[in-house]
Amino acid sequence: MLFGALEAGGTKMVCAIGDENGTILDQISIPTLTPEETMPLIIDYLKGKGIAALGVACFGPVDLDRKSETYGYITSTPKLAWLHYDIVGTLQKALNVPIGFDTDVNGSALGEATWGSTKGVENSIYITIGTGVGVGVIIGGKPYHGMMHPEGGHIFLSRHPSDMEFESKCPYHANCMEGLAAGPAIEKRWGKKGIELVDRKEVWELEAFYIGQALCNYIVTLSPQRIVLGGGVMGQTQLFPLVREEVRKQLNNYIQTKEMENLDTYIVPAGCGGDQGIKGCIKLAMNELGI
Ligand code: ADP
Ligand code: ZN
Repeated sequence: MLFGALEAGGTKMVCAIGDENGTILDQISIPTLTPEETMPLIIDYLKGKGIAALGVACFGPVDLDRKSETYGYITSTPKLAWLHYDIVGTLQKALNVPIGFDTDVNGSALGEATWGSTKGVENSIYITIGTGVGVGVIIGGKPYHGMMHPEGGHIFLSRHPSDMEFESKCPYHANCMEGLAAGPAIEKRWGKKGIELVDRKEVWELEAFYIGQALCNYIVTLSPQRIVLGGGVMGQTQLFPLVREEVRKQLNNYIQTKEMENLDTYIVPAGCGGDQGIKGCIKLAMNELGI
């Protein structure tokens, strides 16, 4: 059976065709311009491919409440061309197939939980640290929504004593994770992109301090059985041992479980090799058909 997948991002739209094994058979990428320019290209790609359902994992905030009049809309995004845009309705009208819809990070979390590092783990989280910070939450095998959906990139953190003067990159919050630790914050603080700061130990120690602190907050509130870290910034793989060490230090032995005894298998990189987002869309599509 064939499924359509759309990973809708702020800079690019990844469209793919895949099967029930999570195998991606074909894939394209389209720049995210305005809906008028971008949507027809997505529809052209997905049309006539014989897909049984479509899964869409979308940048947000989005309306995931199936009872809401604006279900399937991108809501209060700073990307103004997409403000209050009915992305699911538009695709539904053009393609006439069942559509599964979720946030971009819930999509990645689901991809990992189905075919990646959290396969077989009932309760897990996926954190992306890239242009922004997002947290996808899987509870009982399903993406968690709640009132809207988690916006875990905006949890408030205590600053490192050496970082008191830095002005947060988040336009809403002076001390949130995204404002202090996403890629653009690294670039603003140190004057260079992360990729050019590989040899600067202090950059990654501070980054690990914030990521570790955020993880401690997710661990005590959500009690995930495993945590996957992804996104461009985590391309700095030297962060993994530093983050694990910060988690150990900052939690201070408060949580004592078998998972916490081996942080190497508790805090892990993505297992889908960068395809967790698009594979998650395939699973969103499958979920619509109860597969
Ligand atoms: P997006 O979040 O837009 O989907 P990415 O996850 O690639 O895209 O994140 C982009 C951000 O991550 C940028 O701020 C970039 O500087 C940073 N970044 C990307 N790759 C690396 C890397 N290998 N090391 C450090 N920072 C990186
Ligand atoms: Zn914020």
